Amino acid sequence: MLDSVRVRLTFWYTSVLALVLILVAAVTYFIYSRNSKQRTDSDLVELSDAFVTTLQAELKDQPGPEGLRNAGIEAIFEHRFRDHVFILLDASGKPVVSSWDLPVAAPIDKFTLEEALHGASFPRRIQASSRPGSVFISLRGGRNGYRGFSRKITLDNQLCTVMALQSLHAREEMLEDIRATFAWTIPIALLLASAGGYFLARKSLAPVVAMSGQAGRIGATNLHERLAVQNERDELGQLARSFNSLLDRLSESFERQRRFMADASHELRTPVAILRGEAEVALSQQARSLEEYRESLSVLHQEAERLTHIVEDLFTLTRADAGQYPLQPRDFYLDELIGECVHSARTLALAKNISLNFDDVSEAPIRADESLLRRMILNLLDNAIKYTPDGGRVAVACCRAGDEYAVSITDSGTGIPVDLQPRIFERFFRADMARSRSENDGGGAGLGLSISRWIAEAHYGHLELTRSDSLGSTFTAYLPAAAATTATTR
Ligand code: ADP
Repeated sequence: MLDSVRVRLTFWYTSVLALVLILVAAVTYFIYSRNSKQRTDSDLVELSDAFVTTLQAELKDQPGPEGLRNAGIEAIFEHRFRDHVFILLDASGKPVVSSWDLPVAAPIDKFTLEEALHGASFPRRIQASSRPGSVFISLRGGRNGYRGFSRKITLDNQLCTVMALQSLHAREEMLEDIRATFAWTIPIALLLASAGGYFLARKSLAPVVAMSGQAGRIGATNLHERLAVQNERDELGQLARSFNSLLDRLSESFERQRRFMADASHELRTPVAILRGEAEVALSQQARSLEEYRESLSVLHQEAERLTHIVEDLFTLTRADAGQYPLQPRDFYLDELIGECVHSARTLALAKNISLNFDDVSEAPIRADESLLRRMILNLLDNAIKYTPDGGRVAVACCRAGDEYAVSITDSGTGIPVDLQPRIFERFFRADMARSRSENDGGGAGLGLSISRWIAEAHYGHLELTRSDSLGSTFTAYLPAAAATTATTR
Protein backbone atom coordinates (compact mmCIF):
# COMPACT_ATOMS: atom_id res chain seq x y z
CA MET A 1 0.00 0.00 0.00
CA LEU A 2 2.92 2.33 0.79
CA ASP A 3 4.09 1.81 -2.80
CA SER A 4 1.50 4.35 -3.85
CA VAL A 5 2.75 7.95 -3.86
CA ARG A 6 -0.80 9.09 -3.04
CA VAL A 7 -0.92 6.95 0.09
CA ARG A 8 2.60 7.96 1.09
CA LEU A 9 1.81 11.66 0.63
CA THR A 10 -1.39 11.30 2.65
CA PHE A 11 0.45 9.38 5.35
CA TRP A 12 3.19 12.00 5.67
CA TYR A 13 0.77 14.86 5.51
CA THR A 14 -1.45 13.32 8.21
CA SER A 15 1.54 12.46 10.40
CA VAL A 16 2.91 15.99 10.23
CA LEU A 17 -0.53 17.45 10.87
CA ALA A 18 -1.03 15.08 13.83
CA LEU A 19 2.29 16.18 15.28
CA VAL A 20 1.41 19.86 14.86
CA LEU A 21 -2.08 19.41 16.34
CA ILE A 22 -0.80 17.43 19.31
CA LEU A 23 1.90 20.03 19.92
CA VAL A 24 -0.58 22.92 19.68
CA ALA A 25 -3.02 21.08 21.98
CA ALA A 26 -0.28 20.33 24.51
CA VAL A 27 0.98 23.92 24.52
CA THR A 28 -2.57 25.31 24.76
CA TYR A 29 -3.36 22.92 27.60
CA PHE A 30 -0.16 23.78 29.44
CA ILE A 31 -0.70 27.55 29.10
CA TYR A 32 -4.33 27.29 30.16
CA SER A 33 -3.49 25.08 33.12
CA ARG A 34 -0.69 27.42 34.25
CA ASN A 35 -2.86 30.53 33.85
CA SER A 36 -5.76 29.00 35.73
CA LYS A 37 -3.40 28.04 38.55
CA GLN A 38 -2.08 31.59 38.67
CA ARG A 39 -5.65 32.88 38.66
CA THR A 40 -6.55 30.55 41.53
CA ASP A 41 -3.55 31.78 43.49
CA SER A 42 -4.35 35.44 42.93
CA ASP A 43 -8.01 34.77 43.84
CA LEU A 44 -6.83 33.13 47.03
CA VAL A 45 -4.63 36.11 47.93
CA GLU A 46 -7.49 38.54 47.24
CA LEU A 47 -9.94 36.46 49.25
CA SER A 48 -7.51 36.12 52.07
CA ASP A 49 -6.94 39.92 52.07
CA ALA A 50 -10.68 40.57 52.10
CA PHE A 51 -11.16 37.98 54.86
CA VAL A 52 -8.44 39.55 57.02
CA THR A 53 -9.96 43.03 56.53
CA THR A 54 -13.37 41.74 57.58
CA LEU A 55 -11.80 39.88 60.48
CA GLN A 56 -10.06 43.02 61.71
CA ALA A 57 -13.28 45.03 61.40
CA GLU A 58 -15.29 42.37 63.25
CA LEU A 59 -12.70 42.08 65.98
CA LYS A 60 -13.26 45.69 66.95
CA ASP A 61 -16.94 44.84 67.74
CA GLN A 62 -16.12 41.54 69.44
CA PRO A 63 -14.08 42.16 72.59
CA GLY A 64 -13.33 39.49 75.16
CA PRO A 65 -11.76 36.03 75.15
CA GLU A 66 -14.19 34.68 72.55
CA GLY A 67 -13.68 37.78 70.42
CA LEU A 68 -11.32 36.17 67.89
CA ARG A 69 -13.57 33.15 67.38
CA ASN A 70 -16.72 35.30 67.05
CA ALA A 71 -15.00 37.67 64.63
CA GLY A 72 -13.83 34.65 62.66
CA ILE A 73 -17.39 33.26 62.54
CA GLU A 74 -18.71 36.61 61.30
CA ALA A 75 -16.00 36.91 58.67
CA ILE A 76 -16.61 33.35 57.45
CA PHE A 77 -20.34 34.11 57.17
CA GLU A 78 -19.61 37.19 55.21
CA HIS A 79 -17.33 35.36 52.77
CA ARG A 80 -19.38 32.25 52.29
CA PHE A 81 -18.41 31.19 48.85
CA ARG A 82 -19.17 27.78 47.56
CA ASP A 83 -15.74 26.50 46.85
CA HIS A 84 -13.79 28.38 49.47
CA VAL A 85 -12.95 27.32 52.96
CA PHE A 86 -11.44 29.59 55.62
CA ILE A 87 -9.56 28.37 58.65
CA LEU A 88 -8.39 30.56 61.48
CA LEU A 89 -5.62 29.17 63.67
CA ASP A 90 -4.26 30.64 66.88
CA ALA A 91 -0.60 31.23 67.68
CA SER A 92 -0.10 27.58 68.71
CA GLY A 93 -1.53 26.35 65.41
CA LYS A 94 -4.81 25.15 66.96
CA PRO A 95 -7.94 25.86 64.90
CA VAL A 96 -10.04 28.74 66.29
CA VAL A 97 -12.79 28.39 63.72
CA SER A 98 -13.19 27.06 60.16
CA SER A 99 -15.84 27.00 57.47
CA TRP A 100 -16.41 23.35 58.26
CA ASP A 101 -17.61 24.25 61.78
CA LEU A 102 -20.38 26.43 60.37
CA PRO A 103 -23.35 25.75 58.14
CA VAL A 104 -22.17 28.33 55.65
CA ALA A 105 -21.68 26.15 52.69
CA ALA A 106 -21.83 22.48 52.09
CA PRO A 107 -18.48 21.24 53.33
CA ILE A 108 -16.77 20.35 50.17
CA ASP A 109 -16.61 16.64 49.38
CA LYS A 110 -15.13 14.55 52.07
CA PHE A 111 -12.21 16.79 52.74
CA THR A 112 -12.08 17.65 56.40
CA LEU A 113 -10.35 20.09 58.64
CA GLU A 114 -8.24 17.26 60.03
CA GLU A 115 -7.13 16.27 56.60
CA ALA A 116 -6.26 19.86 55.80
CA LEU A 117 -4.38 20.43 59.01
CA HIS A 118 -2.81 17.06 59.57
CA GLY A 119 -2.34 16.10 55.96
CA ALA A 120 1.05 15.44 54.69
CA SER A 121 2.83 18.70 54.30
CA PHE A 122 0.54 21.65 54.73
CA PRO A 123 0.85 22.11 58.48
CA ARG A 124 4.54 21.60 58.39
CA ARG A 125 4.97 24.20 55.73
CA ILE A 126 2.70 26.63 57.53
CA GLN A 127 4.74 26.23 60.66
CA ALA A 128 7.90 26.54 58.71
CA SER A 129 6.91 29.74 56.95
CA SER A 130 8.37 32.67 58.81
CA ARG A 131 6.39 35.71 59.81
CA PRO A 132 4.87 37.56 58.01
CA GLY A 133 5.34 34.62 55.73
CA SER A 134 2.69 33.31 53.52
CA VAL A 135 2.69 30.06 51.62
CA PHE A 136 0.82 28.41 48.76
CA ILE A 137 0.31 24.72 48.87
CA SER A 138 -1.48 22.07 46.89
CA LEU A 139 -3.33 19.46 48.91
CA ARG A 140 -4.53 16.10 47.88
CA GLY A 141 -7.93 15.04 49.09
CA GLY A 142 -11.52 15.56 48.19
CA ARG A 143 -12.45 15.03 44.60
CA ASN A 144 -9.62 16.89 42.92
CA GLY A 145 -7.54 18.34 45.71
CA TYR A 146 -7.24 21.86 47.06
CA ARG A 147 -5.11 24.86 46.55
CA GLY A 148 -4.38 26.66 49.79
CA PHE A 149 -2.97 30.00 50.85
CA SER A 150 -1.89 30.57 54.39
CA ARG A 151 -0.65 33.77 55.92
CA LYS A 152 0.33 34.82 59.42
CA ILE A 153 -1.18 38.00 60.83
CA THR A 154 -1.25 39.75 64.19
CA LEU A 155 -4.76 40.38 65.44
CA ASP A 156 -5.36 42.11 68.76
CA ASN A 157 -1.75 41.46 69.68
CA GLN A 158 -2.16 37.76 68.99
CA LEU A 159 -0.32 35.89 66.20
CA CYS A 160 -2.85 34.04 64.10
CA THR A 161 -2.81 32.13 60.85
CA VAL A 162 -5.49 32.60 58.23
CA MET A 163 -5.87 29.87 55.70
CA ALA A 164 -7.98 30.09 52.57
CA LEU A 165 -8.58 26.91 50.60
CA GLN A 166 -10.13 26.58 47.22
CA SER A 167 -11.29 23.34 45.77
CA LEU A 168 -9.65 22.53 42.47
CA HIS A 169 -12.65 20.57 41.39
CA ALA A 170 -14.02 23.23 38.99
CA ARG A 171 -10.58 23.84 37.53
CA GLU A 172 -9.94 20.16 37.08
CA GLU A 173 -13.36 19.75 35.50
CA MET A 174 -12.52 22.51 33.05
CA LEU A 175 -9.17 20.90 32.25
CA GLU A 176 -10.90 17.56 31.89
CA ASP A 177 -13.33 19.16 29.43
CA ILE A 178 -10.45 20.59 27.44
CA ARG A 179 -8.70 17.20 27.37
CA ALA A 180 -11.90 15.50 26.28
CA THR A 181 -12.44 18.14 23.58
CA PHE A 182 -8.93 17.62 22.23
CA ALA A 183 -9.38 13.86 22.47
CA TRP A 184 -12.22 13.85 19.98
CA THR A 185 -11.52 16.94 17.88
CA ILE A 186 -7.94 15.96 16.99
CA PRO A 187 -8.82 12.49 15.60
CA ILE A 188 -11.79 13.95 13.70
CA ALA A 189 -9.62 16.76 12.30
CA LEU A 190 -6.99 14.21 11.28
CA LEU A 191 -9.59 11.98 9.69
CA LEU A 192 -11.00 14.88 7.66
CA ALA A 193 -7.53 16.16 6.80
CA SER A 194 -6.31 12.75 5.65
CA ALA A 195 -9.42 12.28 3.52
CA GLY A 196 -8.89 15.77 2.04
CA GLY A 197 -5.16 15.09 1.65
CA TYR A 198 -5.80 11.83 -0.16
CA PHE A 199 -8.31 13.53 -2.44
CA LEU A 200 -5.86 16.37 -3.20
CA ALA A 201 -2.97 13.97 -3.78
CA ARG A 202 -5.16 11.92 -6.09
CA LYS A 203 -6.24 15.01 -7.97
CA SER A 204 -2.70 16.42 -8.25
CA LEU A 205 -1.23 13.10 -9.33
CA ALA A 206 -3.97 12.29 -11.80
CA PRO A 207 -2.05 13.99 -14.67
CA VAL A 208 1.05 11.93 -13.76
CA VAL A 209 -1.01 8.73 -13.92
CA ALA A 210 -2.46 9.88 -17.25
CA MET A 211 1.03 10.73 -18.53
CA SER A 212 2.43 7.37 -17.50
CA GLY A 213 -0.47 5.70 -19.35
CA GLN A 214 0.24 7.74 -22.47
CA ALA A 215 3.99 7.16 -22.19
CA GLY A 216 3.38 3.42 -21.81
CA ARG A 217 1.53 3.37 -25.13
CA ILE A 218 4.35 5.09 -27.04
CA GLY A 219 6.61 2.64 -28.84
CA ALA A 220 8.84 2.41 -31.91
CA THR A 221 5.81 2.40 -34.22
CA ASN A 222 4.16 5.55 -32.81
CA LEU A 223 7.21 7.49 -31.67
CA HIS A 224 5.68 10.62 -33.22
CA GLU A 225 2.99 10.76 -30.50
CA ARG A 226 3.52 13.23 -27.67
CA LEU A 227 2.21 13.65 -24.12
CA ALA A 228 -0.56 16.18 -23.66
CA VAL A 229 0.72 19.29 -21.81
CA GLN A 230 -2.09 20.76 -19.72
CA ASN A 231 -0.30 23.68 -18.12
CA GLU A 232 3.09 24.53 -19.58
CA ARG A 233 4.15 26.52 -16.54
CA ASP A 234 3.57 24.05 -13.73
CA GLU A 235 5.92 21.22 -12.72
CA LEU A 236 3.88 18.55 -14.46
CA GLY A 237 3.81 20.64 -17.63
CA GLN A 238 7.60 20.91 -17.44
CA LEU A 239 7.88 17.16 -16.90
CA ALA A 240 5.66 16.52 -19.93
CA ARG A 241 7.71 19.00 -21.99
CA SER A 242 11.00 17.36 -20.95
CA PHE A 243 9.55 13.96 -21.77
CA ASN A 244 8.33 15.22 -25.14
CA SER A 245 11.71 16.71 -25.97
CA LEU A 246 13.30 13.39 -24.98
CA LEU A 247 10.89 11.72 -27.42
CA ASP A 248 11.89 14.30 -30.06
CA ARG A 249 15.53 13.43 -29.60
CA LEU A 250 14.78 9.72 -29.57
CA SER A 251 12.71 9.88 -32.68
CA GLU A 252 15.37 12.01 -34.40
CA SER A 253 17.99 9.46 -33.47
CA PHE A 254 15.68 6.63 -34.63
CA GLU A 255 15.19 8.45 -37.90
CA ARG A 256 18.96 8.97 -38.28
CA GLN A 257 19.58 5.30 -37.61
CA ARG A 258 16.88 4.31 -40.07
CA ARG A 259 18.31 6.59 -42.73
CA PHE A 260 21.79 5.33 -41.99
CA MET A 261 20.66 1.72 -42.41
CA ALA A 262 18.78 2.54 -45.60
CA ASP A 263 21.73 4.49 -47.04
CA ALA A 264 24.21 1.84 -45.96
CA SER A 265 22.24 -0.99 -47.53
CA HIS A 266 21.78 1.12 -50.65
CA GLU A 267 25.53 1.76 -50.87
CA LEU A 268 26.30 -1.90 -50.30
CA ARG A 269 23.72 -3.10 -52.79
CA THR A 270 25.48 -1.54 -55.82
CA PRO A 271 28.90 -3.21 -55.47
CA VAL A 272 27.24 -6.49 -54.47
CA ALA A 273 25.02 -6.32 -57.58
CA ILE A 274 28.08 -5.60 -59.75
CA LEU A 275 29.95 -8.50 -58.14
CA ARG A 276 27.05 -10.87 -58.75
CA GLY A 277 26.39 -9.65 -62.28
CA GLU A 278 30.04 -9.84 -63.27
CA ALA A 279 30.39 -13.34 -61.79
CA GLU A 280 27.19 -14.53 -63.48
CA VAL A 281 28.36 -13.23 -66.87
CA ALA A 282 31.76 -14.84 -66.45
CA LEU A 283 30.21 -18.16 -65.51
CA SER A 284 27.51 -18.16 -68.19
CA GLN A 285 29.92 -17.90 -71.11
CA GLN A 286 31.43 -21.27 -71.84
CA ALA A 287 34.40 -20.37 -73.92
CA ARG A 288 36.13 -17.21 -72.69
CA SER A 289 39.57 -16.04 -73.39
CA LEU A 290 42.09 -15.61 -70.62
CA GLU A 291 41.98 -11.88 -71.25
CA GLU A 292 38.21 -11.80 -70.68
CA TYR A 293 38.58 -13.74 -67.45
CA ARG A 294 41.28 -11.34 -66.27
CA GLU A 295 39.02 -8.40 -67.03
CA SER A 296 36.14 -9.93 -65.08
CA LEU A 297 38.38 -10.75 -62.15
CA SER A 298 39.73 -7.22 -62.11
CA VAL A 299 36.17 -5.83 -61.95
CA LEU A 300 35.38 -8.28 -59.16
CA HIS A 301 38.54 -7.25 -57.32
CA GLN A 302 37.78 -3.55 -57.73
CA GLU A 303 34.24 -3.93 -56.42
CA ALA A 304 35.39 -6.18 -53.57
CA GLU A 305 37.85 -3.45 -52.59
CA ARG A 306 35.14 -0.81 -52.73
CA LEU A 307 32.92 -3.04 -50.63
CA THR A 308 35.69 -3.53 -48.06
CA HIS A 309 36.26 0.21 -47.97
CA ILE A 310 32.56 0.99 -47.37
CA VAL A 311 32.22 -1.72 -44.73
CA GLU A 312 35.33 -0.41 -42.94
CA ASP A 313 34.00 3.15 -43.02
CA LEU A 314 30.62 2.00 -41.71
CA PHE A 315 32.31 0.03 -38.96
CA THR A 316 34.41 3.06 -37.98
CA LEU A 317 31.34 5.32 -37.82
CA THR A 318 29.31 2.79 -35.83
CA ARG A 319 32.08 2.42 -33.27
CA ALA A 320 32.57 6.19 -33.18
CA ASP A 321 28.84 6.69 -32.55
CA ALA A 322 28.94 4.19 -29.72
CA GLY A 323 31.99 5.99 -28.27
CA GLN A 324 33.93 2.75 -28.54
CA TYR A 325 36.70 3.70 -30.93
CA PRO A 326 39.86 3.56 -28.86
CA LEU A 327 42.34 6.33 -29.68
CA GLN A 328 45.96 5.39 -29.47
CA PRO A 329 47.72 8.67 -28.86
CA ARG A 330 51.45 8.97 -29.23
CA ASP A 331 53.96 11.75 -29.83
CA PHE A 332 55.03 12.37 -33.42
CA TYR A 333 55.58 15.21 -35.90
CA LEU A 334 52.52 16.32 -37.80
CA ASP A 335 54.60 17.87 -40.61
CA GLU A 336 56.26 14.50 -41.19
CA LEU A 337 52.91 12.72 -41.29
CA ILE A 338 51.57 15.24 -43.82
CA GLY A 339 54.75 14.74 -45.90
CA GLU A 340 54.15 10.98 -45.92
CA CYS A 341 50.50 11.42 -46.94
CA VAL A 342 51.45 13.80 -49.74
CA HIS A 343 54.01 11.27 -50.89
CA SER A 344 51.36 8.49 -50.94
CA ALA A 345 48.91 10.67 -52.88
CA ARG A 346 51.49 11.72 -55.45
CA THR A 347 50.73 8.70 -57.69
CA LEU A 348 47.03 9.67 -57.79
CA ALA A 349 47.94 13.28 -58.59
CA LEU A 350 50.39 12.26 -61.29
CA ALA A 351 47.70 10.12 -62.96
CA LYS A 352 45.66 13.31 -63.40
CA ASN A 353 48.64 15.51 -64.06
CA ILE A 354 47.88 17.52 -60.94
CA SER A 355 50.66 19.38 -59.17
CA LEU A 356 50.73 18.49 -55.47
CA ASN A 357 52.67 20.79 -53.18
CA PHE A 358 53.41 20.77 -49.48
CA ASP A 359 55.42 23.62 -48.04
CA ASP A 360 57.18 21.81 -45.25
CA VAL A 361 57.80 24.58 -42.79
CA SER A 362 58.81 24.19 -39.17
CA GLU A 363 58.54 21.12 -36.96
CA ALA A 364 55.05 20.40 -35.69
CA PRO A 365 55.17 18.05 -32.70
CA ILE A 366 51.78 16.66 -31.71
CA ARG A 367 50.30 14.01 -29.45
CA ALA A 368 47.53 12.24 -31.31
CA ASP A 369 46.36 9.01 -32.90
CA GLU A 370 48.66 8.87 -35.92
CA SER A 371 46.74 6.34 -37.99
CA LEU A 372 43.48 8.29 -37.59
CA LEU A 373 45.11 11.59 -38.57
CA ARG A 374 46.72 9.83 -41.55
CA ARG A 375 43.28 8.61 -42.58
CA MET A 376 41.82 12.13 -42.29
CA ILE A 377 44.59 13.78 -44.33
CA LEU A 378 44.46 11.05 -46.98
CA ASN A 379 40.66 11.45 -47.21
CA LEU A 380 41.02 15.19 -47.76
CA LEU A 381 43.87 14.75 -50.26
CA ASP A 382 41.93 12.03 -52.08
CA ASN A 383 38.90 14.34 -52.37
CA ALA A 384 41.02 17.30 -53.49
CA ILE A 385 42.59 15.22 -56.28
CA LYS A 386 39.31 13.48 -57.14
CA TYR A 387 37.34 16.71 -57.56
CA THR A 388 40.08 18.66 -59.36
CA PRO A 389 40.16 18.45 -63.15
CA ASP A 390 43.26 17.16 -64.92
CA GLY A 391 46.19 19.54 -64.86
CA GLY A 392 44.99 21.34 -61.74
CA ARG A 393 46.74 22.15 -58.46
CA VAL A 394 46.51 20.87 -54.90
CA ALA A 395 48.43 22.58 -52.08
CA VAL A 396 48.84 21.43 -48.50
CA ALA A 397 49.89 23.72 -45.66
CA CYS A 398 50.38 23.31 -41.96
CA CYS A 399 50.83 26.24 -39.62
CA ARG A 400 50.64 26.72 -35.90
CA ALA A 401 48.23 29.27 -34.44
CA GLY A 402 48.50 29.43 -30.68
CA ASP A 403 47.80 26.05 -29.16
CA GLU A 404 46.58 24.45 -32.37
CA TYR A 405 47.70 23.47 -35.83
CA ALA A 406 45.75 24.41 -38.93
CA VAL A 407 46.20 21.83 -41.69
CA SER A 408 44.68 23.13 -44.93
CA ILE A 409 44.26 21.37 -48.26
CA THR A 410 43.48 23.66 -51.16
CA ASP A 411 42.53 22.50 -54.63
CA SER A 412 41.73 24.20 -57.91
CA GLY A 413 38.58 22.16 -58.51
CA THR A 414 35.16 23.38 -59.53
CA GLY A 415 34.08 23.96 -55.94
CA ILE A 416 30.92 22.92 -54.11
CA PRO A 417 27.61 24.70 -54.82
CA VAL A 418 26.83 27.13 -51.95
CA ASP A 419 23.48 25.50 -51.16
CA LEU A 420 25.13 22.09 -50.79
CA GLN A 421 28.07 23.24 -48.68
CA PRO A 422 26.28 22.82 -45.33
CA ARG A 423 25.46 19.21 -46.18
CA ILE A 424 28.79 17.83 -47.35
CA PHE A 425 29.69 16.51 -43.87
CA GLU A 426 26.46 14.49 -43.69
CA ARG A 427 26.79 10.75 -43.97
CA PHE A 428 26.29 9.33 -47.47
CA PHE A 429 25.95 12.82 -48.91
CA ARG A 430 27.52 13.41 -52.29
CA ALA A 431 27.24 16.79 -53.90
CA ASP A 432 26.88 15.21 -57.27
CA MET A 433 24.36 12.49 -56.53
CA ALA A 434 23.79 11.92 -60.22
CA ARG A 435 27.37 10.78 -60.70
CA SER A 436 27.32 7.03 -61.17
CA ARG A 437 30.00 4.82 -59.79
CA SER A 438 30.61 3.06 -63.05
CA GLU A 439 31.30 6.39 -64.72
CA ASN A 440 33.59 7.51 -61.95
CA ASP A 441 35.02 4.63 -60.09
CA GLY A 442 36.87 6.95 -57.77
CA GLY A 443 33.58 8.16 -56.26
CA GLY A 444 33.10 7.13 -52.63
CA ALA A 445 30.02 6.40 -50.58
CA GLY A 446 29.85 9.89 -49.12
CA LEU A 447 31.36 8.84 -45.79
CA GLY A 448 34.86 10.31 -46.14
CA LEU A 449 34.12 13.79 -44.80
CA SER A 450 31.90 12.48 -41.95
CA ILE A 451 34.75 10.26 -40.80
CA SER A 452 37.32 13.05 -41.23
CA ARG A 453 35.21 15.45 -39.18
CA TRP A 454 34.76 12.83 -36.49
CA ILE A 455 38.55 12.25 -36.40
CA ALA A 456 39.19 16.00 -35.92
CA GLU A 457 36.55 16.18 -33.18
CA ALA A 458 37.85 13.04 -31.45
CA HIS A 459 41.10 14.98 -31.08
CA TYR A 460 39.21 17.96 -29.62
CA GLY A 461 39.64 19.88 -32.87
CA HIS A 462 37.34 20.57 -35.83
CA LEU A 463 37.23 20.32 -39.60
CA GLU A 464 35.78 23.07 -41.77
CA LEU A 465 35.24 23.89 -45.38
CA THR A 466 36.95 27.28 -45.22
CA ARG A 467 36.49 28.24 -48.83
CA SER A 468 34.73 26.89 -51.90
CA ASP A 469 34.05 28.73 -55.13
CA SER A 470 34.60 28.38 -58.84
CA LEU A 471 38.38 28.57 -58.26
CA GLY A 472 38.47 25.63 -55.92
CA SER A 473 37.96 24.59 -52.31
CA THR A 474 39.94 24.66 -49.09
CA PHE A 475 39.32 22.25 -46.22
CA THR A 476 41.05 23.10 -42.91
CA ALA A 477 41.49 20.79 -39.94
CA TYR A 478 42.26 22.54 -36.65
CA LEU A 479 44.03 20.25 -34.19
CA PRO A 480 45.18 21.08 -30.66
CA ALA A 481 48.93 20.56 -30.32
CA ALA A 482 48.44 18.20 -27.36
CA ALA A 483 45.29 16.67 -28.76
CA ALA A 484 44.40 13.16 -27.71
CA THR A 485 45.42 12.38 -24.21
CA THR A 486 42.61 9.98 -23.48
CA ALA A 487 42.46 6.38 -24.53
CA THR A 488 38.97 6.46 -25.97
CA THR A 489 36.95 8.73 -28.20
CA ARG A 490 34.65 11.40 -26.83
P1 ADP B 1 32.92 10.94 -51.26
O1 ADP B 1 33.30 9.58 -50.88
O2 ADP B 1 31.75 11.02 -52.16
O3 ADP B 1 34.08 11.77 -51.69
P2 ADP B 1 32.98 12.64 -48.99
O4 ADP B 1 32.25 12.55 -47.70
O5 ADP B 1 34.46 12.58 -48.92
O6 ADP B 1 32.39 11.53 -49.91
O7 ADP B 1 32.57 13.97 -49.67
C1 ADP B 1 31.21 14.32 -49.75
C2 ADP B 1 30.94 15.15 -50.98
O8 ADP B 1 31.55 16.44 -50.79
C3 ADP B 1 31.56 14.61 -52.21
O9 ADP B 1 30.66 13.72 -52.83
C4 ADP B 1 31.77 15.85 -53.04
O10 ADP B 1 30.59 16.16 -53.75
C5 ADP B 1 32.03 16.93 -52.03
N1 ADP B 1 33.45 17.22 -51.92
C6 ADP B 1 34.30 16.77 -50.99
N2 ADP B 1 35.54 17.27 -51.16
C7 ADP B 1 35.49 18.06 -52.24
C8 ADP B 1 36.43 18.88 -52.92
N3 ADP B 1 37.70 18.97 -52.53
N4 ADP B 1 35.99 19.57 -54.00
C9 ADP B 1 34.71 19.50 -54.40
N5 ADP B 1 33.77 18.75 -53.80
C10 ADP B 1 34.14 18.05 -52.72
